[in-house]
Amino acid sequence: SPLAPMGDPEKTSQLISRLLLDIQNRGQLAAGMTTFNPGRNQLIDTHKDVGTVTEVFQLNHQQTFNSLMKKYEGPAAIGHVRYATCGKDDRSYAQPFERHHIQKSKWFAFGFNGQLANYQELCKEILTESDFHLARETDTEILMHLISQELSKENPAELFDMLTTLSKRLDGAYNIVFLDALGNMFVSRDPVGLRPLCYAFDGSLFAAASESVALANMGFEAEQIKSLAPGCAIVIQDGELKIREYAKPTQKAHCFFEWIYFANVCSTLDDQSVYITRKRLGEELAEQETVPIDEDTIVVPVPDTAKAAADSMAYTLRVPCLEGLIRNRYIGRTFIEGANRKDKVRAKYTPLPEVLEGKRVLLVEDTIVRSTTMKALISQLKERGRAKEVHVRVACPPIIAPCFYGIDMSTINELFAPKFLNGGEMSPEVEEAMAEAIGADTLKYLPKASIARAVGLPGSSLCQACIDTTYPTESGRQLYQIAVENSLN
Ligand code: SF4
Repeated sequence: SPLAPMGDPEKTSQLISRLLLDIQNRGQLAAGMTTFNPGRNQLIDTHKDVGTVTEVFQLNHQQTFNSLMKKYEGPAAIGHVRYATCGKDDRSYAQPFERHHIQKSKWFAFGFNGQLANYQELCKEILTESDFHLARETDTEILMHLISQELSKENPAELFDMLTTLSKRLDGAYNIVFLDALGNMFVSRDPVGLRPLCYAFDGSLFAAASESVALANMGFEAEQIKSLAPGCAIVIQDGELKIREYAKPTQKAHCFFEWIYFANVCSTLDDQSVYITRKRLGEELAEQETVPIDEDTIVVPVPDTAKAAADSMAYTLRVPCLEGLIRNRYIGRTFIEGANRKDKVRAKYTPLPEVLEGKRVLLVEDTIVRSTTMKALISQLKERGRAKEVHVRVACPPIIAPCFYGIDMSTINELFAPKFLNGGEMSPEVEEAMAEAIGADTLKYLPKASIARAVGLPGSSLCQACIDTTYPTESGRQLYQIAVENSLN
């Protein structure tokens, strides 16, 4: 195993690859790390590329992996897996981004989780106020420019103060990890806390990650793992570690989508377990079930994220939860790229007639965003699986609005639900029309109130903008208005 013993400061490169593997669910497009080593020619140095963590870190080639880890060893490191909401899929978009001094030596590197909702505005400002050239279409580059602008001031501020200054210009989701050639580093969470971030200490070892599962698998006890509060940062500067608030949170807005879909089911985010949330959503689905429950009724999850909800729904209804759909975990990106949706679904999922034939299937899915996959799945369940009926049960309310904070759904027209809701309320007639459109016998969503109940946090501390259009930041509200206008054109 590439996992280094805890507390061995020279083995941070190995720890980073392990940490990234545990949060691979957060992005599969690219991966990378930057390490700091005071005994090396390049004090900070970055290894990154497009691909999964296994591919980029050569986890299947022990020798290459070992020499990579040797080359990048050092007492401090940061890492990143990329999921894109903008930009291209080439290496230059992989993170951490490195910034060099004019003298060409490496200066700092950073990784960014989130999305700046005022990206376009910042682009314009930067192009008019400086001679900086934007080489890539990504908010990460904007952030790099803003950080270097602050750090190159005559008397650069302390890192906390720099974050305070930056926060006045940034709008949206922005969790940052930063490492410079002096070995200074910081980990920060945006003031509304859209994306999760947790940290832990053990002796001289400090670690932080987007999700608790990565720290738990490193060996930290659950009690050692803490969520970083919105607007706070942990700064290690001149050998001293401090945790402090750098910006006053005006409101908390944790993305509910993390619990229902995006995060690893083993994680606990802001003290609320992802697994327990999904289990409760399944119980809520069971409570509103109306189809006849008899020996022909079975619950089938769409693998893998809907599994916890499906299990608890079935348990509550006292019907079997069966794997009627098998997901091929080994299918690579290249194999399905360019294929049409139906072929992609065929390559990714296999329906089992041994389970499905003649059955009334309650098909549980965590969410329906665009509906194309769901439509293809239902036809597979009926044609190849020979299911008698397919009733789709969605462990989430309808997605009616885009996300501008880091989840890839940016226009209204790409979404399934708005085409039927037209700004109105959900009703049995609307659900019937939706079911018909995807070829299901019936379709049911959860109401909005289920979300806060299941997550275990007050609705007022969650971002639920994609289900209720209430965006927690000014730029989000403005972008939504533009999205509405665009959808009408
Ligand atoms: Fe999450 Fe939806 Fe808010 Fe985006 S709009 S941050 S997906 S809750």
